[in-house]
Amino acid sequence: MIIGVLNQKGGVGKTTLSVNLAAALALSGKRALLIDADPQGSALDWQSTREGDTLFPVVGMAKPTLHKDVPELAASYDHVIIDGPPRVNELAKSAIMACDLVLIPVQPSPYDVWAADDIVKLIQEVMIYKAKLKGRFVVNRKIVNTAIGRDVAEALRDYPFLVAETAINQRVAYAESAASGLSVLEFDSKGPAAREIKALVRELVEE
Ligand code: ADP
Ligand code: MG
Repeated sequence: MIIGVLNQKGGVGKTTLSVNLAAALALSGKRALLIDADPQGSALDWQSTREGDTLFPVVGMAKPTLHKDVPELAASYDHVIIDGPPRVNELAKSAIMACDLVLIPVQPSPYDVWAADDIVKLIQEVMIYKAKLKGRFVVNRKIVNTAIGRDVAEALRDYPFLVAETAINQRVAYAESAASGLSVLEFDSKGPAAREIKALVRELVEE
């Protein structure tokens, strides 16, 4: 399965979710590949900070020919995750065209809900000639014991894509683990961050 993590807004958690989804898949015994389609190369930076084994390969591919190159690469893997670029442009469109599923991280703020309009439109453009393509929102940085995460999930229902049942909470483990090139699953394998990432993977991949 090819899952793109996309949103033209920066800082919504594309790279954080990409590396952790790829790690969860790799740790469950799947052959996972992470494609860094962001010219900033944050996923590549994450990988190069890491000491020891690589867990899964990260390939830098920030070019609008992604949809042509990814299928051949994907043949050697069970799952490919694409960490998307922070713009709505040809590169983002190419990344979407390569996907089976586009996961759209959205923070619990009305600004994020409004901003999602651009990426939704781009996905819909691709859907015209790729009917099997799916879009799915995921609430990221939800704050425990607040209603805003639920309100955002509610507001997102006006868009034509489902909202993942698993929300990802605001947790220091996401930044702390990344600082040493780790996923939250290695950082604290039984912790709440590891649990929610595994739940999200189950929801996305095993349907
Ligand atoms: P993007 O790739 O969309 O620009 P990042 O994944 O780089 O976003 O996330 C932006 C910042 O927010 C990073 O510092 C990251 O550590 C932090 N972050 C992302 N998701 C979470 C989360 N669920 N909890 C805490 N911090 C997070
Ligand atoms: Mg990023």
